[in-house]
Amino acid sequence: MDILNPANETLLQSLPADDRSQVLAKIESLKKAQPDWALRSVDERLNILVRFGSLVKENLENLALVLTSETGKPLAQARNEIRGAHNRIEHLQANAATWLAREKVVTEGAVREEIVHEPLGVIANISAWNFPYNVGYNVFLYALLAGNAVAYKPSEYASLTGLKFGELLAKAGVPSGVFECFIGGAAVGEMLLEADLDGYFFTGSYKTGKYITQKVATKMVPVQLELGGKDALYVMDDVQDIKQAAINAAEGAFYNNGQSCCAVERIYVHENVYEAFVKAFEEEVEGYLIGDPLAEGTFIGPVTRREQLDVLQDQVQDALDKGAVLHTGGKRRAGAGYYWEPTVLTGVSHEMKVMMEESFGPIIGIQSVRNDEEAVALMKDTTYGLTAAVFSDNEARAVQVLEKLPTGTAYWNCCDRVSPNLPWTGRKNSGLGVTLSYLGIRAFTQPKAYHLKGSS
Ligand code: NAD
Repeated sequence: MDILNPANETLLQSLPADDRSQVLAKIESLKKAQPDWALRSVDERLNILVRFGSLVKENLENLALVLTSETGKPLAQARNEIRGAHNRIEHLQANAATWLAREKVVTEGAVREEIVHEPLGVIANISAWNFPYNVGYNVFLYALLAGNAVAYKPSEYASLTGLKFGELLAKAGVPSGVFECFIGGAAVGEMLLEADLDGYFFTGSYKTGKYITQKVATKMVPVQLELGGKDALYVMDDVQDIKQAAINAAEGAFYNNGQSCCAVERIYVHENVYEAFVKAFEEEVEGYLIGDPLAEGTFIGPVTRREQLDVLQDQVQDALDKGAVLHTGGKRRAGAGYYWEPTVLTGVSHEMKVMMEESFGPIIGIQSVRNDEEAVALMKDTTYGLTAAVFSDNEARAVQVLEKLPTGTAYWNCCDRVSPNLPWTGRKNSGLGVTLSYLGIRAFTQPKAYHLKGSS
């Protein structure tokens, strides 16, 4: 498997992808190692994962370089991601013992009643490349802590980072066979789907997520999906500081080159503040430094996958053909590397792909609306349901809109944000199930109900 640097299209490394016999051998090791891992105390497992967190921090600079070189994520954003993901470990440190403790529901009377949260067993974590630390930690750290063994398949676009996870978890003390890294693309993912595992946890596109769900349905094991989005942001006419709203919205749209599952993918602005917003937004985007992701100060690097350039080209062309106005960007940057100029379109409508299909790149459409009702109708007009944001100086008015939207996350005066304290969950085609928060650890356990009669 050739790992290319998206910034200059040079070969970083060639990795042998796992073949069937290697996949089977790793699965065998996981099955063998899991029961002993589950027998360890939560504290013991937690200490090992905390050590892993410390090792990641000690190696931050090197890990950030690896992440930037294989995904094109600007270096400062790679460092931010690695630092930020650590909040999962802190949150687990504070809460896991309580979440995983035996629950004594009924303590008096003839029959005592208790709930024990047992691990699922060996689970597959088929992951994405855009935030490998965040989305990886959301699954494999919580799963390991709950006593599962993990078959981790990093995306083929973040394999070097995936191998680092394996290396550092082992160094931290995760016993051999409890975490196995599977190297390869769809073919290796398929081998995991065919295996007899106890749960499938997937982060990636709707298309693959749907396929995986169908493929493993008859196994009767939990399937959880964190998929894409077409997340909307609405700017109300009571916003006094339009410039700040534009800065925040632009960051939500263009951070990580627009390749966040919860990136702002479409913007609606009340007609009373539309012109001011568009002007401030365009100024902000034109100030972004685009270039080498290793250079300090770069905000827009290359997109990670070459194929995505065709998607962006198609969305821009489709929008222009249907009457959209291009304010800035709109094309691939000449020369080597998968660079797409940050693109702002106005005069857009829901007839255009750019307002309906996930862009997953540095491109945004801004549409004017007459009132909150029109904004709600447009925001709801999507097959996805990951997040929605409203910018307003009035919380109650913003919440009135957010309450009407079928999304897993609602933002007031912020966007493109994930917190370990809150459940991360998509509705409709954005996913199934929950990671993060106390609900997120439950995903990796199965309850056993004890009815205990007699005195102990
Ligand atoms: P993808 O669906 O192309 O790939 C995801 C993973 O699935 C990769 O590891 C890939 O090798 C594997 N895979 C592909 N085909 C497979 C098959 N037939 N069987 C088994 N495994 C297979 O997605 P991607 O391009 O890596 O990620 C981008 C998508 O992920 C975007 O849509 C983004 O919105 C979404 N995403 C969602 C979240 C979230 O939390 N909701 C987070 C990050 C990314």
